[in-house]
Amino acid sequence: MIKPYMREDECCGCTACKSICPKNAITLQPNREGFLYPQVNTEICVDCSQCVKVCDFQHRDTETKTFGDYPHVLAVRHRNKEVVECSTSGGAFTGISDFVLNRNGVVYGATIDNDFVVKHIRAVSESDRNKLRGSKYVQSDLGGSFGSVKRDLDNGIEVLFTGTPCQCAGVKSYLERTKTSMDKLIICDFVCHGTPSPRLWKEHVASLQRRYKKKIEYYQFRPKVNGWRNHTEAVVLKDGKKVYKPAFIQKHKQIFYSHLALRKSCYNCKYTSIFRDTELTIADCWGIEKKVPEWNDDRGVSLVLINNKKGEKIFDSIKDNFEYRQIDIKDFMQPQLQHPANKPKQREEFWNEYYQHGYKFIVKKYTTCNFKDEIILAVINLLRRTGMINIVKKIIRR
Ligand SMILES: Cc1cc2nc3c(=O)[nH]c(=O)nc-3n(C[C@H](O)[C@H](O)[C@H](O)COP(=O)(O)OP(=O)(O)OC[C@H]3O[C@@H](n4cnc5c(N)ncnc54)[C@H](O)[C@@H]3O)c2cc1C
Repeated sequence: MIKPYMREDECCGCTACKSICPKNAITLQPNREGFLYPQVNTEICVDCSQCVKVCDFQHRDTETKTFGDYPHVLAVRHRNKEVVECSTSGGAFTGISDFVLNRNGVVYGATIDNDFVVKHIRAVSESDRNKLRGSKYVQSDLGGSFGSVKRDLDNGIEVLFTGTPCQCAGVKSYLERTKTSMDKLIICDFVCHGTPSPRLWKEHVASLQRRYKKKIEYYQFRPKVNGWRNHTEAVVLKDGKKVYKPAFIQKHKQIFYSHLALRKSCYNCKYTSIFRDTELTIADCWGIEKKVPEWNDDRGVSLVLINNKKGEKIFDSIKDNFEYRQIDIKDFMQPQLQHPANKPKQREEFWNEYYQHGYKFIVKKYTTCNFKDEIILAVINLLRRTGMINIVKKIIRR
């Protein structure tokens, strides 16, 4: 019997195997950590091995490839300040997706649904596209997106597909194998730290609901209320109350940054290079204050890699919407452009403790969130509500 993968760290969950299966014999099922993995229904599988052949992750040659004089590297920020505020970095995604929507194209990307599941959707309007804005630090469920992208391309519709580098490689491999014309396809990935567990994300949402004893209306992973660099989370409750938590008291972000709850394939990532198969790559332009000090307003700047001729043409068409500077990639080499996330030694222990003792236990053991910090947060929120926060910030800066 064919198995799409042998070890969990060989499968990034991109759904290419499920999408290509001629018998619909593959479904994606969550493992214990909450990550989706393909499962083959042996009753209907005909051993055609399409699922193995389409897997880019297992067949990717990790020898460094170069692509002529690409990538061209830019620091970019959208001219519309509101767009920058609503985006995680400098609003590059909005500028690129506007280009596609204005030409009656469609945009695929990740949103948070009403049940707080992070998943890919197809956006045909600006309002749908706005749901894709902002990073969601959880592995998104691609559902049937790959098949839908194929149908759009077959129908002559222009498509922008956005996602993690492994999702982008997956969709490309699937379209190549199904001999789909990619003339109208634009793929835009981002520099990726790794994707955290959907199961722990669900735990985080549940813990917030318990903590505030109210339904959560809306959640934002990285609003800029405390600036671009301060990775604050925003929780909006049913009664309209907003709670902002800086990273030092955020359970979810601390677990994310510790790498303890990333998908196993993230430690074995094949895409951590500056040479990419997509048209465009976007990221946070960390370090911009050293090279373009006049942009150091802490509202966010995007790093954009233009990876091929098609990407260059697209950027040329949209460049007037941005302020941009050519920069040297050597000055902006974040670790995620060089090597996969390091796998912490305690990863197994962390998960075993979670299974045995629950979410509260691992939060206490592996994060710095505690009661004292909750009090600090209450004071910060009080200062914000009374408008005193800016005065205090000024005093601290002095
Ligand atoms: C899990 C994750 C890890 C990241 N790690 C890094 C990093 O280490 N270094 C770095 O510089 N940047 C990282 N980024 C990218 C960065 O946070 C910004 O998303 C990026 O710079 C684009 O910002 P923007 O202002 O152009 O647009 P935004 O509006 O913020 O861009 C949103 C785009 O991200 C996509 N997206 C959001 N969440 C997900 C998701 N869970 N899965 C797939 N696609 C998603 C949307 O579909 C949309 O295309 C990461 C993003 C995610 C989601």
